Amino acid sequence: MKRRLLAISMAALMVAGVFAGCGSSDNSADGGNAQTTTEGEEAVDVSIGTCIYKFDDTFMTGVRNNMEAKAKELGAEISIMDSQNKQPTQNEQVDGFITKGVTALAVNPVDRTAAGPIVEKAKAEDLPVVFINREPEAEVMQSYDKVWYVGAKAEESGTMSGEIIAEYWNAHPEADKNGDGVLQYIMITGEPGHQDATLRTEYSVKAITDAGIKVEEIANDTAKWDKVQATDLTKALISSKGIDSIEAIICNNDDMALGAIEALKAEGYNTGDATKYIPVVGVDATAPALEAMANGSLLGTVLNDGENQGIAATNIAVAASQGKEISKDTIGYDVTDGKYVWIPYVKVTADNYQDFQ
Ligand code: BGC
Ligand code: CA
Repeated sequence: MKRRLLAISMAALMVAGVFAGCGSSDNSADGGNAQTTTEGEEAVDVSIGTCIYKFDDTFMTGVRNNMEAKAKELGAEISIMDSQNKQPTQNEQVDGFITKGVTALAVNPVDRTAAGPIVEKAKAEDLPVVFINREPEAEVMQSYDKVWYVGAKAEESGTMSGEIIAEYWNAHPEADKNGDGVLQYIMITGEPGHQDATLRTEYSVKAITDAGIKVEEIANDTAKWDKVQATDLTKALISSKGIDSIEAIICNNDDMALGAIEALKAEGYNTGDATKYIPVVGVDATAPALEAMANGSLLGTVLNDGENQGIAATNIAVAASQGKEISKDTIGYDVTDGKYVWIPYVKVTADNYQDFQ
């Protein structure tokens, strides 16, 4: 009971803070359709319909838990559905939320190129929509004034993971196993078409070559963000290429890095014997990845800040439901071009991983 009151009064503070001095604001262009914003209880009238591309994704599970916690804290109702990696299922869920009368949608698309029809549905109802983690095309973002995107600049994470490999290579001459002065690497990518897969792949290699290191890609294949698929892929590559030919494994996320490490462990690699080690990097800084850094099997990762992404997405959904303009004042995060919230990545190495555990 106390908690509930606290949530309501916090919501009241947030709301009052923004409209201090404005008095009643019912003459808004939306004809009072949005929640008016002078009393705390109104945050409780916010109802967010959320779709996550699939629940069985380590990183998105973190984002979703943070969204739920933030909504509770603000006294907003949130309903979160598992789109089970199927776009038609997600489209039906969106229809269901609209029928139910939610005040905002928060969508992690299954297919980011399929965001257009979702925006059309939202626009027809004058309903705010915030996309998360899978960035819609620019034209889609521009097609409606109540659409926002919360994510991170994938280039940054690619650069950081490449830098981690480059630093290791420069500090460890023995990493050049065949002594040819060229870094032979395997690239394990996320789902094709995902901006994070494309850009992390490109920028991680760029960071290595920018550091003056010659590279040779001995394999590049997708494991679709998935640990088990990455283990199978790495096992197959070890068989076909030979473990001695692999000098680094670069992965677009931590689940796949941990999957690759499973395959290495099966060969007696990355278990503590310094002569049997292949540097592996990921992205996300999930709890299991940080554990793998602590035991030395994972060289490094990059924090993909799901906590702030989840909070920012929820703050946008709540503020937009209340008819507020989306700005740093209303959501607590910088807003670029009125539509984009970019949460920074952080490089995670042996020096600082404990700060994230
Ligand atoms: C994360 C991956 C995740 C994917 C889901 C990426 O930003 O790094 O771990 O599977 O988003 O879309
Ligand atoms: Ca070499």
